[in-house]
Amino acid sequence: MTTRTYEIRSVFEYFRPQTLSEATDFLSAHGSESRLLAGGTDLMIAARSGNLGAKYVVDVSRLEELRQISVNQDRLTIGSALTYSEIMCNPLVQRHAPSLVRASSQVGSLQIRNAGTLGGNVGNASPAADSVPALMVHDTHVILKSASGEFSEPLGSFIVGPYKTGLKPGFLIAGFSLEIWPDGSRHAYNRIARRRSLAISRAGAAAVATLDPDGAVNRIKLALSSISPQPSRMRVAEDCLKCRKPDSRLIAEAAQTVAEEMVRLSGERPSFVYKKPAVIGLTIKTLEEIFFGQQ
Ligand SMILES: Cc1cc2nc3c(=O)[nH]c(=O)nc-3n(C[C@H](O)[C@H](O)[C@H](O)COP(=O)(O)OP(=O)(O)OC[C@H]3O[C@@H](n4cnc5c(N)ncnc54)[C@H](O)[C@@H]3O)c2cc1C
Repeated sequence: MTTRTYEIRSVFEYFRPQTLSEATDFLSAHGSESRLLAGGTDLMIAARSGNLGAKYVVDVSRLEELRQISVNQDRLTIGSALTYSEIMCNPLVQRHAPSLVRASSQVGSLQIRNAGTLGGNVGNASPAADSVPALMVHDTHVILKSASGEFSEPLGSFIVGPYKTGLKPGFLIAGFSLEIWPDGSRHAYNRIARRRSLAISRAGAAAVATLDPDGAVNRIKLALSSISPQPSRMRVAEDCLKCRKPDSRLIAEAAQTVAEEMVRLSGERPSFVYKKPAVIGLTIKTLEEIFFGQQ
């Protein structure tokens, strides 16, 4: 094992394990003093400003075990160290999780998409994280590994608050297990941001649905970011849509419940005068895309 010492404003020792077991062994000895590094697009900002709060930085970006994509029965597994650019180009993700491809394509800029990873986006747990709602509509489980083994946890409970996950010392995020929706399901992701690129989303909406032969909604999942302390499923809106034939009135009714959920989760805020109609518009656009748009 080689370690090098870097100084930005935070002082830390940098360690790049060659294998996953080398990484988990290191974490089992030094987990509470370590931060994991993938693309560094969030972590290096913390390090530069002196807010790293760790003695060791463990670089997992090149671990092959965290860079695989596979399909097993009804689940798609995506390694945590894959970048947005890699995710966007992968045929399995394109086929089974188009809303994640769309969300990835809207992150930051080309440079950020080439460096930033899915594991880093979930690990950072920003309320505005673009990948998280797109993962939530696939009932995603976070695959966690340590020296003593592997277990998985639903993404919705893994993120416990703004910039806070339930990751325990000694563990890392190895990947994500996504439910595969049946062929013919309809997927969408849209976001609102100040600019087209290099802007954090003000709200992001992911949706996936299946329709009955008569056009009624069979199953639907809808998740939004940036409207609550952590990205959340919009279960009231989902229930409002289920078993009903979507039309503009029903979509508007469901979108209204999303605005109400935002207030319930975040409390009334002065900015909501502007944000409520924006969130309603974003939800309507996303639902119209899955019900009436070209896929
Ligand atoms: C200019 C700019 C624009 C951006 N635009 C967007 C945007 O549009 N949308 C968006 O969602 N984000 C955006 N971001 C934020 C950032 O790019 C993403 O959150 C990115 O996915 C972070 O991934 P990373 O690999 O760089 O993570 P890192 O910075 O390496 O790590 C981030 C956090 O995750 C932890 N972590 C990393 N890997 C693991 C692992 N395997 N297991 C456990 N914990 C881990 C780290 O310890 C750290 O706490 C932007 C950032 C910048 C600088």
